[in-house]
Amino acid sequence: MSRVLIVGSGLTGSICACLLHRQLFNKVKISVWDKASGAGGRMSTSQSPSNRSCTVDLGAQYITATPYYAKVHKSFYDELLLCGILKPLEATIEGMLSNAKGSINYVTPSGVSSIVKHYLNESGAEVLFGCRVTHVRLKGPGWEVCRQGASPEEFDVVVLTMPIPQILQLQGDVRSMMSEAERQMLEDVSYSSRFALGLFYKAGVRITIPWAAKYVSDNPRIRYIAIDDKKRNLGDGTGARPAGPHDAELRAPAGVWRRWLHTLRFRRLCGVCPEDLRGSEDLALKFGGWGFGRLERAPPTSKQRTQECLIWGRADAFELQNLLQRLL
Ligand SMILES: Cc1cc2nc3c(=O)[nH]c(=O)nc-3n(C[C@H](O)[C@H](O)[C@H](O)COP(=O)(O)OP(=O)(O)OC[C@H]3O[C@@H](n4cnc5c(N)ncnc54)[C@H](O)[C@@H]3O)c2cc1C
Repeated sequence: MSRVLIVGSGLTGSICACLLHRQLFNKVKISVWDKASGAGGRMSTSQSPSNRSCTVDLGAQYITATPYYAKVHKSFYDELLLCGILKPLEATIEGMLSNAKGSINYVTPSGVSSIVKHYLNESGAEVLFGCRVTHVRLKGPGWEVCRQGASPEEFDVVVLTMPIPQILQLQGDVRSMMSEAERQMLEDVSYSSRFALGLFYKAGVRITIPWAAKYVSDNPRIRYIAIDDKKRNLGDGTGARPAGPHDAELRAPAGVWRRWLHTLRFRRLCGVCPEDLRGSEDLALKFGGWGFGRLERAPPTSKQRTQECLIWGRADAFELQNLLQRLL
């Protein structure tokens, strides 16, 4: 039985694990390692410390299926809809750029990480959190992989699903196995940082604004703000749920936000918070930060490849079909 290691338990890693399991079933033993403390990656959902059923999405907010992808990924959408993980977005998102004609937007009633958790559960993989991979070295016909604080382990196939700059930071043989042109192409890829703040409010806080989420165009620091329960169509935000989470996607260096958050109530400063929430104290605050949040300059998709069973792909747009074709 081949041993496959998938590094990263975000959407790419979890779907990859699930598809490998479904296609190769008892021919592979799949392990998923992630440096984070839980599943989701940039599809992370955080719980309120006082009420675990009350959650806020700190990464991806909703899923858009263009007509093309609705067709080619139909089985994925059908499965997630059938399991109740996805539901059509019904709430109003103000300032949303118009998608391709015929696109459908979906939300996740249990938070966006429920998509990732679904695929991890389906994969039957051994999933280890708190495992930061530091080295990937060629060893015999396979790979030796080191993680912090543990002995190296050997695998036949290693799949790296983290953002490209994090792949390039790995020590060992990954970089040296690429041609100069390939390395240059990957070094040209760029991401922008994203920071998200989740605020949980006391039960009974009334939120009467007409939108569930809004893109902010006239503020240099805040890009997007959402009332998550309303976005997920879980109530009208009038306190029907114990506490309403509310999140904002922020644009500024992490240090700036950390300083602000520790000293001031950012929402009063920014003045973009819904009027209804300005006077009410939040119960808890969650912060999410991604140095490699959004792909700004992507590599050409055709350049994904595999060599000696080390497979690297562009996170955010990993061509799973490519991977399967190469493994099968
Ligand atoms: C704020 C924000 C909002 C977004 N909004 C949307 C949206 O509304 N709709 C949408 O479709 N997309 C959205 N996106 C993009 C979407 O979240 C990503 O495209 C998607 O989650 C990428 O998944 P991934 O698995 O490829 O990468 P990731 O989710 O980044 O997963 C990579 C994983 O690798 C792990 N990792 C990294 N290095 C190591 C290491 N050395 N060892 C072990 N583990 C490691 C990380 O911890 C992470 O869990 C948003 C992204 C951000 C940041």
